[in-house]
Amino acid sequence: MYKRPKLRLFMILLVCFVLAGIYNLFAAKEPASTLNDMQGKIVVIDPGHGGNDTGCTDNNKIWEKNITLAVARELAQLLEAEGAVVKLTRSGDYQLGRKWFSLKKNPDDLDERVAVALKNNADIFVSLHINCSPKRNRAGAVVFYNQDNKSGQCLARHIQRELNHIPEMVKRTSRARDYYILNRLKMPAVVVELGYISSAKDRQHLIEPAYQKKMARSICTGITNYCNDSHKVDLSVNTETPTYDSTVQVNNDTLPDLYFIPKTRTRLFMASEEMDSIDMANDTVKELARLALEQLVDGPRKTDELSPCIPDGITFKNLKVSGPLATVDLGMTNKESCLLGSEGEWVALSSIAYTLFELPEIREVQVMVNGKQRKTLAGHMDISKPISRDELPLTKVAGGIMEGKKPKVAIVIDDCGQSNPGGVKEMLSIDRPLTFAVMPNLENSRRQAVQAAERGYEVIVHLPMQPVRGKASWLGPGAITSEMTAEEIRREVRRNFAQVPYATGFNNHMGSLVTSRDDLIRPVLEVAREKGFFVLDSRTSDKSKIIPLAQSMGIAYTQRDIFLDDVKSVDHMKRQLDLLADKALANGSAIGIGHVGMGGEKMARAIKEMIPVMEAKGIEFVYLCELLH
Ligand SMILES: [Zn+2]
Repeated sequence: MYKRPKLRLFMILLVCFVLAGIYNLFAAKEPASTLNDMQGKIVVIDPGHGGNDTGCTDNNKIWEKNITLAVARELAQLLEAEGAVVKLTRSGDYQLGRKWFSLKKNPDDLDERVAVALKNNADIFVSLHINCSPKRNRAGAVVFYNQDNKSGQCLARHIQRELNHIPEMVKRTSRARDYYILNRLKMPAVVVELGYISSAKDRQHLIEPAYQKKMARSICTGITNYCNDSHKVDLSVNTETPTYDSTVQVNNDTLPDLYFIPKTRTRLFMASEEMDSIDMANDTVKELARLALEQLVDGPRKTDELSPCIPDGITFKNLKVSGPLATVDLGMTNKESCLLGSEGEWVALSSIAYTLFELPEIREVQVMVNGKQRKTLAGHMDISKPISRDELPLTKVAGGIMEGKKPKVAIVIDDCGQSNPGGVKEMLSIDRPLTFAVMPNLENSRRQAVQAAERGYEVIVHLPMQPVRGKASWLGPGAITSEMTAEEIRREVRRNFAQVPYATGFNNHMGSLVTSRDDLIRPVLEVAREKGFFVLDSRTSDKSKIIPLAQSMGIAYTQRDIFLDDVKSVDHMKRQLDLLADKALANGSAIGIGHVGMGGEKMARAIKEMIPVMEAKGIEFVYLCELLH
């Protein structure tokens, strides 16, 4: 008999709906509360700045206050969908506790923001900001916590990990910083600096609504993971117990050093010849301190490699020294505060403090603005109390100062992308910062670069270059050789750099010939500069010209300290990693290079086994981008 197709279709659909209904019934039975501990959690989200306090700006085109509010709104929706109770400290473009007619620009509503968290009994507090740095190559989101707030530290690590899973994100590690707002909250509280307005790369992303959504999604996942995890495993594996003496070593024979910034990293700068005229025996501590501060605020001269720690427009007005306490009065208008950002404030304050701490008599520094005590310079770092020499969370390393008290180690994994996948899978499961150096033009180049970036590892290009001796077949496709003209080199490097997605820098594969010749390595570095890449000199030749050239061309650079696997045995590799730790303990930081491919599994095993040993020595693992000069 002929059946009416319409009826049959209707019956089929009906069965489907009934099945779907039954399925949903069962699916709904799955208790959501055991999977999700966000239910009922009170989360206070604090979009930084607002109203006349604009926060950082890029020539008045991009405003920090607008981006923080946009991400806060996205984040609020996502958290509410997870069952959290969300409260925003501000829901529009205004300053807290301020009348609409007030023109006051100084960010002095921080106490009101703290009050919102306390009044609402927040379980979690997340403040959102955009950073700004005098170091133009600084990029990536960084999550900050208060040194003494262990749950804040744990929350920060969870959020940082999720943000680093955004493939295009420049990978960074979470840090303790002395934020005014964080110093006043006891619950798990963090400041998320979403990126740098001073970085061209970050700026481009930060204004995209799709990227803002991605960041909100990552922060939400980080918070959720923290809530699900916090009662089970404590992620804060190693607490700050530095076995490394991070206090300032004072040399009583010298005049105060000044802390200027090279374009890329904070570095010591010896006092210039004007200081030579000072009579050490007759000048008082106060006079020495005053002279040092005058020079610090004036900034570096006669060299374009250094940029000032104290931005233009901030003046030095007065200094008082009474006993161990130095009180520094700065002159500052609202215009300057727009340019600072958290990192700008950190650089200004730590350079002042470090400069004065070179004088052994001074142990505390109080910073004032226009003769008055203030909460912050521009809404971030706490200056309501003196900065103490004993509490300064900084490490003095060879040629610089760095944030955090622990010596830092970066491990780079060379030869990724090749057909021999030895160790790649194992490396991709190491739960610490690693840098994957991916060779271009190989069958696994793209795939491995994407995998690494998505799992939160830093990616750089491992650029093959001709060695003095060695087989051409070791080089692989796209190598830079001595037969090429400068134009050919530039073209080839551009092509190679484009082959490795999400790369932020490069290092040389072999290259003892190319790196030692100015005419060959210069065109390579020109392309790096044009791409905003940093360079890691693998040091395959002691005649390498990479570092002096990078310095003179204004490219961020660093160099390898130790090869980890020239002998392919786990024991040898572990010994090399131990040496790497010792080097970091002695110098503040160290960089090691290992390989995948032949012996790769052994290398991964050695790293995994040595992580707890090295961390017990006080080592912190970081990404290369945090160790650049
Ligand atoms: Zn801010």
